[in-house]
Amino acid sequence: MTKLIITIAPTGSIPTKKHTPHIPIRPDEIIQEGILCEKSGASIIHIHARNPVDETPSTDFHIFKEIYQGLKQETDLIIQISTGGRAGMEYEKRSERLSLEPEMASLTTGSVNFPSSVYANSPDLIKALATDMKTYKIRPEIEVFDVSMIQNGLNLADQGLMAHPLHFNFVMGLKGAIPATIENLVHLKNSIPREATWTVSGIGAFQLPMCVHAIAMGGHTRVGLEDCIYFRKDELASNEQLVVRIAQVSKIIGREIATPGEARKILHLT
Ligand code: ZN
Repeated sequence: MTKLIITIAPTGSIPTKKHTPHIPIRPDEIIQEGILCEKSGASIIHIHARNPVDETPSTDFHIFKEIYQGLKQETDLIIQISTGGRAGMEYEKRSERLSLEPEMASLTTGSVNFPSSVYANSPDLIKALATDMKTYKIRPEIEVFDVSMIQNGLNLADQGLMAHPLHFNFVMGLKGAIPATIENLVHLKNSIPREATWTVSGIGAFQLPMCVHAIAMGGHTRVGLEDCIYFRKDELASNEQLVVRIAQVSKIIGREIATPGEARKILHLT
C-alpha cells in the first residue's frame, strides 16, 4: 500500500482560544504548529487566516501571505490554502490568496446547508476558482461534502479546468453533509476514478474512526483542530497530538508515513 499522507488542519474558521487554548490563531502560532506537525508526520498543512485581534475568520491577503511565507521558509510541508467561504463569500476575496501560488488549494464543488447557514458555492464561482487554480498551476483538493460534489469535480475535469488524476477530500459527519459511516465512505471511494487519490476529514468524534477506516482502505487522512478539538471525550487535543496518534495507528497497522517529498510524488505535484 502507498505510504499515508497526513494533512494537518490546525485552525479552521470556528474554534477560538475560548474553546481551546491549543488553537493557533496568529501567523507565528500557525507556523510554529506547522513545524511541530511536520516533525510528527504531517506532509500537508491546510491553512485558514484569522484576525489576530478578535480571532474571527479573515480574508486578509497579508495574513495569508505571512503564514504562507513563514511555512515555506521553516518547513518542507505542502501548503494547501483554503478557499472556503466562512470568512467572506465573495469570489474576489476567496481568489486573491491563490496568487501566492501554493502547491495546493481547497475547492468545494457544491453548496451545503450548515445547521444555521448556507455554504453557497455557485457553478460560476466554482468555475472561476478552478480557472484561477489552473492559471497558477495549483493542484485543487476537491472538498466533497456530498456525493454530488464528486460529479461536479469530474465535470470540471471534462471541461479542461482540472487535470487527472484528481484528488478528493471527503468531509464526513458535519451536520448537513454526508453522515460519517463506513458504508458512505466505501460509496464515496467507489464513486471517484480508480486513479484518483483521496483523503478523509471526519468531523468531531468521527475524526479518529474515519481516519482509521481510510488508513485500512488505502486512502489518506486529515486531522487537526479545524475538525475536532478533542483528543478523547472531555480531553482537549493539540494539533501535534492528533498527528502523532494517527501516525502511530498507521504504523501499527503496517502502513508507513509519507514525508512531504513522498507525498508530492503520490499526489503528482512535481
Ligand atoms: Zn478548512
